[in-house]
Amino acid sequence: MSERLPSSAARSSGPAAAGPVPGARRLLLLRYGEIGLKGKNRPGFERQLRLRVEEALARAGFGDVEVAWRNGRLLVGSPAEEEARAAVERALGRVFGIVSLSPVWGVPPAPEAIEGAALAALEEALAEAASRGRPARTFKVEARRVDKRFPLGSLEMNARLGGFLHRAHPELGVDVHAPDVRVQVEVREREAYAFALTLPGPGGLPLGSSGRAVLLLSGGIDSPVAGWMAMRRGIEIEAVHFESFPYTSEQAREKVLELARILAGWSGEMTVHVVHFTDIQTAIYREAPAELGVILMRRAMFRLAEELARRRGALGTVTGENVGQVASQTLESMGVINRVTTLPVLRPLITMDKSQIIEEARRIGTYETSILPYADCCSLFVPAHPATRPRLAEVEGAEARIDWERLLPEALERTVAVSVRP
Ligand code: ATP
Ligand code: MG
Repeated sequence: MSERLPSSAARSSGPAAAGPVPGARRLLLLRYGEIGLKGKNRPGFERQLRLRVEEALARAGFGDVEVAWRNGRLLVGSPAEEEARAAVERALGRVFGIVSLSPVWGVPPAPEAIEGAALAALEEALAEAASRGRPARTFKVEARRVDKRFPLGSLEMNARLGGFLHRAHPELGVDVHAPDVRVQVEVREREAYAFALTLPGPGGLPLGSSGRAVLLLSGGIDSPVAGWMAMRRGIEIEAVHFESFPYTSEQAREKVLELARILAGWSGEMTVHVVHFTDIQTAIYREAPAELGVILMRRAMFRLAEELARRRGALGTVTGENVGQVASQTLESMGVINRVTTLPVLRPLITMDKSQIIEEARRIGTYETSILPYADCCSLFVPAHPATRPRLAEVEGAEARIDWERLLPEALERTVAVSVRP
């Protein structure tokens, strides 16, 4: 799967040529740890990762930059201009499967050019550390000669580059054990690379490498986070939202679509199936004992979600449920709710603390939207004392009074699919 990027000399006047180091070009090195472990699945994962990287670049308006494999990592051409480069880094920082990324200087494999690249890499890292208010005081060079025809060995290069960088920055000390900045240099046959900055990626697996699932997306804090966590494991998501219009508002629907748009910032686009849930909810309210209402409602949601999943080729459902949060989230309630579904139900938040979930929601960017006040259908008809230990027989007894044969197909009939983009 390895391909060649054109040599830096051929590109030095192109759009990726960088300023301060003559003959250099800017690149981004993408690392994808976990995929490397997947044995014979590896080519499939790599294909998927590359596809997702190319999609993310195209979405950010950089569809023409090069992407190539280099020794178990991806090397991506990066614009020389700073703002554009930041945009590329932001876009790739949202590709699941990427563990970390480093902005790289690529130069012809000649000693002086490598010195220039190492210095540029060091200074980039110094600037970044200073901008975080944690100025760097020490550095170390880690050079690697991959092309054995290069005249200097790895140790010689460490010494030579270390001396060169120290002369340029005498204020820095050398620390070989725990340096603030590690300047890494790799000399290959056609090009040498230097970098000193490593930015975190989201990790996980490339989207689509673990199939597809349906996310039960409410307007709350939890379910968007659950969806994001499932996506990070490579699961493609379609959302399903149950609304009880006109009891729930237009704004409540818009809020859910906005949450889906934020998630689409990580996946490219997302389909949201908006299910007309009003008639089912009112039937439950009319026919069932108040304390079982929430359980019946959840069972109805799962029945509908499962049918939608089948229609869409999805292999599971994902929810934001979390043990003990509310009456329907006791193990007893979940047991009764689960009886209506045979697909795997993924509950990524199941054992998390609320504070952790909120922290994740903030990081993903959904929190501020989630806390907007518009009520979703779960806040309707909430009884004062919902059952926390429902009995299956009682629940089934209550359900027997409801005309599911008519209500479930009707709800699906009136489901609208909305496609959202970031
Ligand atoms: P969230 O913060 O995600 O709303 P929650 O803590 O409020 O979760 P519940 O309201 O009990 O918990 O909902 C549990 C899960 O059921 C939600 O995380 C979501 O996956 C699903 N769910 C609840 N209401 C809806 C809805 N109107 N449409 C789609 N899914 C829903
Ligand atoms: Mg909720």
